[in-house]
Amino acid sequence: MNNPEESKIWSVRQSADLYGIDEWSSGYFGVSPRGDVVVRASTPEGEANVSLMEIVDGLQQRGLQMPVLLRLENIVDSRISILNDSFAHAIESSGYRGQYRGAFPIKVNQQKHVIAEIARFGERYNHGLEAGSKAELMIALATITNRESVIICNGYKDAEFISLGLQARKLGFKCFFVLETLTELQFVIERSRALGIEPLIGVRLKLSTKVEGHWSADSGDRSLFGLNTNELVTVIDTLRDANLLHCFQLLHFHLGSQIPNIRSIRTGVLEACRYYIELVGEGAPLGYLDLGGGLAIDYDGTCSTNGHSRNYSVQEYCIDVVESIQESLDAHGIAHPTIVTESGRATVAHTAVLLFNILDVTHFEPTALPAELPANCHEMIANLWHTLNVICVANLQESYNDVIYYRDKIRDLFNSGDINLRHRVLGENIYWAGLQKIASLLPQVKRIPAELESLPQMLADIYYGNFSVFQSLPDSWAIGQVFPVMPIHRLNEEPTRQAIIADLTCDCDGKLQKFASPEGESTTLALHPIKHGEEYYIGVFLVGAYQETLGDLHNLFGDTNVASVRINPDSSIDFVHELHGDSISDVLTYVEYNPDALYEQFRQTAENAVRDGIITLADRQLMLAAYSEGLRGYTYFEK
Ligand SMILES: *Cc1c(COP(=O)(O)O)cnc(C)c1O
Repeated sequence: MNNPEESKIWSVRQSADLYGIDEWSSGYFGVSPRGDVVVRASTPEGEANVSLMEIVDGLQQRGLQMPVLLRLENIVDSRISILNDSFAHAIESSGYRGQYRGAFPIKVNQQKHVIAEIARFGERYNHGLEAGSKAELMIALATITNRESVIICNGYKDAEFISLGLQARKLGFKCFFVLETLTELQFVIERSRALGIEPLIGVRLKLSTKVEGHWSADSGDRSLFGLNTNELVTVIDTLRDANLLHCFQLLHFHLGSQIPNIRSIRTGVLEACRYYIELVGEGAPLGYLDLGGGLAIDYDGTCSTNGHSRNYSVQEYCIDVVESIQESLDAHGIAHPTIVTESGRATVAHTAVLLFNILDVTHFEPTALPAELPANCHEMIANLWHTLNVICVANLQESYNDVIYYRDKIRDLFNSGDINLRHRVLGENIYWAGLQKIASLLPQVKRIPAELESLPQMLADIYYGNFSVFQSLPDSWAIGQVFPVMPIHRLNEEPTRQAIIADLTCDCDGKLQKFASPEGESTTLALHPIKHGEEYYIGVFLVGAYQETLGDLHNLFGDTNVASVRINPDSSIDFVHELHGDSISDVLTYVEYNPDALYEQFRQTAENAVRDGIITLADRQLMLAAYSEGLRGYTYFEK
C-alpha cells in the first residue's frame, strides 16, 4: 500500500484479510459490504446476518453503555450442536458401539445465564455439567433436569460434598465422583455406608503423556492432579475389599486446556485405553471414558501448534478420539465405553465479544525538523543530523546504534551544562525522526535485526479504550493470551494508523500489545484515525471462556454491562437479557466501604465548608448531588 493511488481504494476484503477474521472466527463473524463486523448466526430457518453496530445501537437505546460484554445465544446453541453432532457423526461413521455424553465444566463460565443456555441447548443431546467444587455441584444439581445427562464431580471433595452427591444419586442423577486422592476414597466409602447409597466412582489418571502449550503442567508425572499407578491399584483393592468394585465405572484424565497438537490428544487417549483394558481385566466394570477438556480454539487463525491455535478441527478431534478408543479396545474384545468430554473453552469461547469505545488517542508524530541545522550546533548534534540523512535499507542496525549513541551524548552534554534546553530538544527530535525513518524501512529488509523488532511498537499510537484488561481480559495480562481484536466498523476504509490499546487502569500492564494476525503475532494493530464527534468501537473476540470470573477489581473497575442477544431468522434481534455492571457503590462495598457512610462523611465536610463560609448552600447541594449520583454510576467512562 505504498502507492498513494492504490491506497484510495480499500475494500472490505482487505480488512477481512488484514484482521484475519475468516481465519479465527470459525464462520461466526464476517465483514459486511458496508464495512461492519457482522454476526453470522445460524437460526432454525438458515443463516441470519446482523451487524454488531446495529446491536451497539440497540444497547445504547436501552441505556447500556460501553464497555459491554455481548453474549450471542445462537453461537452457544451452535457450539453445543457442533460438538455433539461431530461425535455422533464420528460414532456412526466408524461403527463405534457406544455413545457420547458432553459435560460442560462450570468453572469455564459460571454465569447463571450462560449455564442456563447450555442446559437448554444441551437438553436434546443429554449434555451434562462438570463441577469442580461444592458450589459448582449445587449449580449442577439445580440446573440439570435430564436424568440421562452426567454430572462429573472433580476437585477435592469433603464429606459434605460427597454426601450431597450421594443424595443426588437417590434422585436418579448420574453423578460421578472422580477420585483425585486416596483420602477421598475413604470418605466416599464411609459416607456411602452411612447413607446406604451406592456411589458412581471414577478415577482421575495421571498420564505420562505430556502436552505442549501453557497448560503442559497439567499432564505428566508431576501433574498436581490425579492418581499414579500405585494409587490406582490401591483403589481397586480397597473397592474390592469394600464390595464396591462394581461402582468403579469411569476412567478420567485431563491433559490440560488448549491442547495445540492433535497428536498429543491421540497419545493421551491411547495411554488411557491401556489403563482401561487393564482395569477391566482387574474386574472393574467401567463403561465411561472421560477425556476431560483440552479441545482448543484457534485464537490467532494460524491453524498451528503455537499455543494460541491448534492443528485440528472439532470434527477431526472427534474422529481421532472415537477411532483410537475403538482400535485399542477391539483388539481386546472390550465393549466400547460411553465417551465423555468436558470441553469448556471450545463450547463457550466464541459466544462472547467485549465491545468498547476509544476515548482518546496519543499520536506519535515526530516534530518537524528545521531545513538545516542552526550554525552554532554542537558537534554531536551535527553527527546525529548526518546519521539521519544517510539512513538507508543497507545500514539500519548501524544507523540505529549511531542514533542511540549520539542521543546519549547529547543528554550527557545537557546534564553537564554544555548545551542548552533548545539544543537538547533539537537533538531529541532528530533522534525520533531517525527511529521513524528506520522503522519505515524495516518492511524492506528480509530479516529484521532482533533489536529493531520493537521499533514499530515504540513509535505506535496509543488508543485509550474504555475498559479494563484486568476485569475483562485477565488472561491477556496473566498468561499472555492473544485474543482477536479489531474495529467493528469503518472496514471499508484503510486503517492507516499503527497502534497499541491502553485501558483505563493506571497500570503499565493495562494494555493490549500482542495481536494475532495470519502473518504471525504483531506488536501493533492497524486502526483508523479517530473522526471528531464520532465514536470508534473495538471488539475483542472469543472471550466467552474463563475471562469473566478470573477478572479482578484493579483500580476498582467493576463488572461490565452484559447483554445477551438472540438473532431471529428475519435478522431481527431479541435483547433477551441485560445485566447492568457494577456501580461505584457496588465496588466500594466489595472492599468493605459503606456507601451511605461515605456519603455522610462527605456531607459533613460540605456542611463544615458552608459553616466556614467557603462554599454556599447552593454549592453544597450541587456537590452532594454529584457525589450521590457518582455512587450510583458505572465504574467506566460514562457519556
Ligand atoms: C479446566 C478443566 C476442563 C475444561 O478444559 P477446556 O480446555 O476449557 O475444555 C475440563 N476438565 C477439567 C478437569 C478441568 O480442570
